[in-house]
Amino acid sequence: MAFESLSDKLQNIFKNLRGKGRLSEADVKAALKEVKMALLEADVSFKVVKQFISSIQERAVGEEVFGSLTPGQTVIKIVTEELIKLMGSETTEIALKPASEITVIMMAGLQGAGKTTTTAKIAAKLKAKGRKPLLAACDVYRPAAIKQLQVNGEKVGIPVFTMGDKISPVDIAKGAIEHASKNGFNVVILDTAGRLHIDESMMEELIRIREAVEVYQTLLVVDAMTGQDAVNVAGTFNDKVGIDGVILTKLDGDTRGGAALSIRSVTGKPILYIGMGEKLSDLEQFYPDRMASRILGMGDIQSLIEKAAAEVDEEQAKELSQKLRKAEFDYNDFLSQMQQIKKMGGMGSILSMMPGMGSQLAGVDMDEGERSLRRVESIILSMTKEERANPGLMNPSRKQRIAKGAGVDVSEVNRLVKQFDQMKKMMKQMPGLMGGGKRKGFGG
Ligand code: GDP
Repeated sequence: MAFESLSDKLQNIFKNLRGKGRLSEADVKAALKEVKMALLEADVSFKVVKQFISSIQERAVGEEVFGSLTPGQTVIKIVTEELIKLMGSETTEIALKPASEITVIMMAGLQGAGKTTTTAKIAAKLKAKGRKPLLAACDVYRPAAIKQLQVNGEKVGIPVFTMGDKISPVDIAKGAIEHASKNGFNVVILDTAGRLHIDESMMEELIRIREAVEVYQTLLVVDAMTGQDAVNVAGTFNDKVGIDGVILTKLDGDTRGGAALSIRSVTGKPILYIGMGEKLSDLEQFYPDRMASRILGMGDIQSLIEKAAAEVDEEQAKELSQKLRKAEFDYNDFLSQMQQIKKMGGMGSILSMMPGMGSQLAGVDMDEGERSLRRVESIILSMTKEERANPGLMNPSRKQRIAKGAGVDVSEVNRLVKQFDQMKKMMKQMPGLMGGGKRKGFGG
């Protein structure tokens, strides 16, 4: 899973901080040193890490005091906020012209980064927003590129403009825009050629296209799995060609995370979307705050709620979101959620959004995951009504009885109860950590 090792390390550092009642400056220094190591190991660029740590240090020793937070929580809050800032703070949408005009978007990137796939994914998103996109096959060098774009275009129901591979990409771009204006399309997305490495002629071609037609947005697709290389590619493209935003693909893989954390700060350009799989629906808007909370193991409650809202009926979703926010939910809620999980794309995607659960999934194979989900279900079903509604009732003899009823070892019951308790505890802390805490003192 993405960010796994970074996430584990940061969570450990935070656990130690939380455990302390008082924090000396040396404690903070030691913790920040660990944060620094964790970021470097996650392949975040050195310069970015250095700036990041120094701004945290400044704030942490600047005696910022947050309402009801302990000193440990204060440091955690500062790190969380700085992490969000590092990724750009705000969510950036693709800039589009008014629907009455044609917006031309040029896609760029190295071969294999996921450019052709992402081109179709973005077109599908824009179509869902009510735009009329046309894809233009401007990669005339890679033999299968045109066909691949056509196949993807067909899957999302979006036409592809091609002129074969004997015409220059500049002329294809011009032809596509002409075709768009005659046929009522208001977005033209140019799928340009990638190369295996950054090379001058690739970048010159992009510049030639931009000189010939009015490109409104140049978007760069980079592969998160390539770590610092992705950051270097983004930096070079931005310097030589100029880009408006980045789409980071393959964040569903086990990337260490460096690219997501460095790109904004190195290029000054926002990450607009993240690729979360090979399916053409696997493109998500990039939310720096949600990403930070995912990395920090606080889960991604907001995404979870949205996902739930899209899949279950509205009343139920509202109820769930209230319960999650108040950390009031019990084993009954847990069970009914579990029954929704299959509908919502399997447990992996859900559990990774739950506070504290991301790291539990390390290396779990999902079939095994589904089986253990069924065991969890049978454990909860073996609880009495009272136990399900009052998680606080749990004690050793009850656990023994439940284990027997579910046909599992008591250690599994213990594990479930512990995870459940941890999850509740983290949810309680969420409002304070994610922006709810009031500021007092000198730093604000
Ligand atoms: P291009 O050469 O840049 O046009 O790259 P392609 O669009 O052909 O993608 C290269 C490979 O990456 C294909 O197998 C895609 O299915 C895969 N791919 C693209 N985006 C993602 C993503 O977000 N996640 C995963 N897991 N695979 C992706």
